[in-house]
Amino acid sequence: MSHFVIVGAGECGARAAWALREKGFDGAITLIGDETLPPYERPPLSKASIGEVLEPKLVADRHRYAEERITLITGVRVNALDVATKQLSLSDGNVLAYDKLLLAIGASARPFPGVPGDSQSIRMLRTHADATALRAAMLPGKHIAIIGGGFIGLELAATARMLGVRVTVVEGLERVLKRGVPQEIADVVATRHRLEGVDVKCGVAITSLTDAAGRATVRLANGDVLEVDLALVGIGAVPNTWLAERASIRVENGIAVDERLRTSAPDIYAAGDCCSFPLHLYGGRRVRLESWRNAQEQGSLAATNMLGGDQTISAVPWFWSDQYDMSLQIAGLADGAVHHLRRDLGSNAFILFHLDADGRLLAASGIGPGNAVARDIRLAEMLIAAGARPDPDALVSPGVKLKSLLAA
Ligand SMILES: Cc1cc2nc3c(=O)[nH]c(=O)nc-3n(C[C@H](O)[C@H](O)[C@H](O)COP(=O)(O)OP(=O)(O)OC[C@H]3O[C@@H](n4cnc5c(N)ncnc54)[C@H](O)[C@@H]3O)c2cc1C
Repeated sequence: MSHFVIVGAGECGARAAWALREKGFDGAITLIGDETLPPYERPPLSKASIGEVLEPKLVADRHRYAEERITLITGVRVNALDVATKQLSLSDGNVLAYDKLLLAIGASARPFPGVPGDSQSIRMLRTHADATALRAAMLPGKHIAIIGGGFIGLELAATARMLGVRVTVVEGLERVLKRGVPQEIADVVATRHRLEGVDVKCGVAITSLTDAAGRATVRLANGDVLEVDLALVGIGAVPNTWLAERASIRVENGIAVDERLRTSAPDIYAAGDCCSFPLHLYGGRRVRLESWRNAQEQGSLAATNMLGGDQTISAVPWFWSDQYDMSLQIAGLADGAVHHLRRDLGSNAFILFHLDADGRLLAASGIGPGNAVARDIRLAEMLIAAGARPDPDALVSPGVKLKSLLAA
């Protein structure tokens, strides 16, 4: 009987395991992860209330894995991978043989330079354990410094304000969300945070981050010193690649896979946050995405191809973020765009369409209350997938339905 092993019991690994069964695989499946919890959703960790964080949102109850004959091993790390003998060495001393292997080992929070890990008052956020420790310290009246004005930092800033915590965000670049969204949307986000009482400092470098006696000290290049109860380092994530690197599997900003999620080693696939892949829709350029939906879709695609399928990556990148009552959504990749067209949707919601010099729609980013932008972003995604060159006048006219552009 064939044995398929999935390393990394996160969103992607869990999705792949379920998809293998849904697609009719009858062999043995082992899903192995180094966290103690069964696979759970990470997005609520920065957004939800403390109660919801304490109760993790599981992808599926533990017993359901057994029902589907998926052997779920948690709290065990894969320490080494031998490509020649097709064996994995586990941290509990066991050795596991595989016929096909999926690496869905995700990413880790990027530490602040010179501050190797977490301490009581300097923390990072990636896991449920991180979130639980962080939230326990976020009490009303406490002061937290968030290092980095990216999505996770800003989501946490919003959550902290709702918990009555004083918040200072320190961003080294000239504005927040520099890598994530265009200026127009970042301005809306920063303004809202300031209205909610967050002190947003942009364009200030940090010269040192230290902790002593349960408090953190953030020294800024402009001479300011922040003494806070807690500093949250939210400066991005780094793909987990060491397992692949040590096995001489090709790595290029993540474990390098082809359009079918195959690594450079036979019978080994990689998917989700840990891998970089060529995106046909954008001229085959190699990208790595850190997005919940991408992790799900690639888990499923990897399962198809592990079973002998021949599916290539075709999904349009998509990401969302919730802060206060606002939701941001981004479809596609905007770099390379030269035209940015705005469509107002009413109720403080709008979408920006990003087009290249030939008028091809590359990306759309929107912001608004609740799910005000969801439907139009979904339609924009379909236009992007179709390689559409929509009429610019129609794009900016709220009276013209995007659906009609799709039909055109
Ligand atoms: C706080 C937070 C908020 C987020 N919010 C959003 C959002 O709003 N929208 C959005 O689109 N995305 C969001 N994301 C991103 C999304 O959660 C990730 O893209 C997704 O979780 C990636 O899934 P993955 O399975 O590829 O990786 P991961 O979820 O990182 O799972 C990989 C697992 O593999 C384990 N592992 C690694 N190495 C080994 C090893 N050697 N042996 C055994 N196990 C190993 C890891 O510990 C981890 O449990 C958020 C992420 C975080 C952290």
